[in-house]
Amino acid sequence: MSHHEIHRLHRVGWLRAAVLSANDGIVSTASLIIGVAAAGATQTSILLAGVAGLVAGAMSMAAGEYVSVSSQSDTENADIALEKHSLEHDFEFEKEELAQIYESRGLEPALAGQVADQLMAHDALGAHVRDELGITDTASSQPVQAAFFSAVTFTIGAALPLLVAWLVPGSQLITLVACTSLLFLASLGALAAQAGGASLSIGAIRVAFWGAVAMVLTAGVGRVFGIVS
Ligand SMILES: [Zn+2]
Repeated sequence: MSHHEIHRLHRVGWLRAAVLSANDGIVSTASLIIGVAAAGATQTSILLAGVAGLVAGAMSMAAGEYVSVSSQSDTENADIALEKHSLEHDFEFEKEELAQIYESRGLEPALAGQVADQLMAHDALGAHVRDELGITDTASSQPVQAAFFSAVTFTIGAALPLLVAWLVPGSQLITLVACTSLLFLASLGALAAQAGGASLSIGAIRVAFWGAVAMVLTAGVGRVFGIVS
């Protein structure tokens, strides 16, 4: 039987991660470039700061993602081991527990018991991991992939303002880096909103607004620095 409604959940997870880290790449690198330029630095120093920001940001994103996803995977593995132990030592209790979960989801007690019986006969651990712990294949964490993925998407985001700074030297740099970065951010926000089935304009404005705040603040700091130094 064909499936009519379009579910977006399966693609929101990785897309949200991609948009967030690309967004970080654009905002942090564009702000860095604008701040250093506002302080009156040379083109070489601006690009150097941009490249350093890109590498540092990509590595910190990867490290942060690896650590957070690894600790989630540690927790999942510990829970699964606990479940395995309980199944080996108290199978009847576990069967009752699973039946109660199905009952709480709306099944009649007799049917819930039957379903628990059959699912535990088929794959007891799988049934508990999925229906009791809520760990599904798609949700289970892969630290290395997640780290690599966020480093790559951060780098793509950061490369955009860096490219503009490299192509447009001199007095136009701050304006053009700011405008193009806001455009990139708005497009990213709209893309994420569209994939999630939300309003494109709200998604675009939300992301661009915070990017603009970050760039204005760093430009201000850079300007002050340029004056006092
Ligand atoms: Zn259990």
